[in-house]
Amino acid sequence: VIRLNDVRKNYYLGKAVVEVLKGISLSINKAEFVALMGPSGSGKSTLMNIIGCLDTPTSGDYFLSNQPVARMNDDALADVRNKEIGFVFQQFNLLPRLTALENVALPLVYAGVGKKERTERAKEVLERVSLGDRSHHRPNELSGGQNQRVAIARALINNPSIILADEPTGNLDSKTSAEIMKVFEQIHAAGNTLVLVTHEEEIAAHAKRIVRLKDGIVENPLSP
Ligand code: ATP
Ligand code: MG
Repeated sequence: VIRLNDVRKNYYLGKAVVEVLKGISLSINKAEFVALMGPSGSGKSTLMNIIGCLDTPTSGDYFLSNQPVARMNDDALADVRNKEIGFVFQQFNLLPRLTALENVALPLVYAGVGKKERTERAKEVLERVSLGDRSHHRPNELSGGQNQRVAIARALINNPSIILADEPTGNLDSKTSAEIMKVFEQIHAAGNTLVLVTHEEEIAAHAKRIVRLKDGIVENPLSP
């Protein structure tokens, strides 16, 4: 479902060129669970942003469900970002003034879905992450793990087929991380494609395949 062919990404800082991705070729199958690892600064977030269509490669091809992303127009890209892909971040990125339910329903507000349906669907996904009883709490009234589950519920609200998680357990202790990984295991079991960035081998061990980035290339391109 995800196919990158010799993807390169440069950042330009004044006259200096920083080559972050130096030719990434990578395929991820539908319903696969892949962990992306690599040292700090190796380009993991850069690669995730490209996969999530939040950023574009400097060169190389990216195909999403066999469609060349570079040739999609803005409407098609917005559709992909909002409906096909769900993003989860290390800092949960929740709005502090909104309740769990309102945070989860927010993408539906932008999509113009009516209030009754928004509330119903937000309740459903909060149930999926075992937070049905916390829907009226605000982020400061929830634990870190609970907030991350709210963020995961928000990522699931449009029923995307692909979930991208950039160090989702980076701010959590090991017990809470284990709970969050259970949620990701469930998401994977439900048939979603899952790409998860982590520094921890223990977390990566949940994945069916580990892709390692180093110095801008994939270290283990031949493993299945
Ligand atoms: P970490 O594990 O610390 O999150 P990472 O593997 O996610 O690291 P990236 O955030 O992808 O690394 O950054 C890779 C490199 O690209 C870094 O050297 C960083 O300084 C550089 N970089 C990232 N974003 C930009 C930007 N917008 N402009 C210039 N340089 C950038
Ligand atoms: Mg990063």
